[in-house]
Amino acid sequence: MLILDGKAVAKARRERLKERAAKFMTLRGRAPGLTVVLVGDDPASQVYVANKIKACAEVGFESKEVRLPANVTPSDLKVAIEKINKDPSVDGMILQLPLPKGLDADSALEWIAPGKDADCLTSENLGRLWSGRALTTPCTPWGVMAILEHFRIQVAGRKAVVVGRSQIVGKPMAHLLLQADATVTVCHSKTPDVREHTLNADLVVVAAGRPELLGAKDFKKGAVVVDVGIHRQEKGGKTRLCGDVRFNELEGHVSAATPVPGGVGPMTITMLLENTLILAENH
Ligand code: NAP
Repeated sequence: MLILDGKAVAKARRERLKERAAKFMTLRGRAPGLTVVLVGDDPASQVYVANKIKACAEVGFESKEVRLPANVTPSDLKVAIEKINKDPSVDGMILQLPLPKGLDADSALEWIAPGKDADCLTSENLGRLWSGRALTTPCTPWGVMAILEHFRIQVAGRKAVVVGRSQIVGKPMAHLLLQADATVTVCHSKTPDVREHTLNADLVVVAAGRPELLGAKDFKKGAVVVDVGIHRQEKGGKTRLCGDVRFNELEGHVSAATPVPGGVGPMTITMLLENTLILAENH
């Protein structure tokens, strides 16, 4: 079984990003810039934001963190986002999700100028993606496509199943696979028999957010399995990470699979950096 090592793909792409950022600097006299808006003090979100800021520094991007209190009013959040929209030194912006209770993420995301939407979550940028004229691309599904491309996994003409239909992962994943000429089926929590679909698939992308939901018996022999899920499990005082797939069952059955950790995870921030550079070049 080929291990689809996302860490290695992320490393290679970040090396190229470094070169592209240096070229941008020479041409424009400044580095590409990303601003992260963090509302409240959720510990997991603080870690994610710190990782994004660190990744920016590693490839030579400028980054800023704008912190707002958990009790910020929607109108003050809107003012803060609009200020970033107008800041010429900022090329890309992300609003770290989830937002604290009382704030509606769907409305807040629409306040981001599409030309600065580094996560590709505004309806305008999703509409562009859907109509084949993408500006940015949702980071996690794009990261999956980058892994498949890196390992030369054939997508065109294959039967692909996506398990999950979230706005951030499942739906755009299905769209990107369709754009790459796969025949795509999407399963979700109301699909009566998910295995009926996954067993027929050449390629399965699992993004159900359910720890170790699927195992070898759910996949056709020789299939390619991409696991987007990531879960922290406490066992005997130790913490381990697992995905939506029971990875240890796959050896000898599927032809290739992403591990957790070290599969899709490292790609998400990498693709956020790529989106930021696209926005910077377009700015
Ligand atoms: P989500 O918003 O909770 O969506 C989960 C999707 O899976 C929903 O569409 C749901 O169906 C479907 N689903 C749930 N249980 C199912 C089941 N038993 N069978 C079939 N479908 C089922 O989650 P998400 O944001 O897409 O994230 C999915 C996973 O990826 C999570 O573990 C998340 O932590 C991880 N993730 C990882 C990264 C990364 O960088 N590696 C990035 C984003 C997300 P309904 O629509 O019917 O409810």
